[in-house]
Amino acid sequence: MPFRDDFTDCPRCRIALEPITLIVGGLDVLRCKQCDGMWTSLDDFRALTVTLAPHGQLHETFRDEPEAPLHCPECKGEMTKLYLSQVPVDRCQHGLWFDFAELQRVLTQLRD
Ligand SMILES: [Zn+2]
Ligand SMILES: [Zn+2]
Repeated sequence: MPFRDDFTDCPRCRIALEPITLIVGGLDVLRCKQCDGMWTSLDDFRALTVTLAPHGQLHETFRDEPEAPLHCPECKGEMTKLYLSQVPVDRCQHGLWFDFAELQRVLTQLRD
């Protein structure tokens, strides 16, 4: 069996993520073509939020759900579940995981 450590896999589907660039803000993300989830680095995401909304604020609250934590595509460690302004996301020190359409929801809230 070949080693697949060099790949960044979807934490839900375990298939390779594909790099795409979002139209909004030109954010480079990795997308899962199966579930449409998206992975972005924390630095890139922060830079984008500052660009979109210099005075906007995302409110972080912890979310306590029974489902097992997702694993970070990069370090394979368990990610922290939290809400980013009501939108459920999963975070590691390496980045943020957004399920289908969640990234758009966060960006829309920022611009409102
Ligand atoms: Zn997936
Ligand atoms: Zn990680």
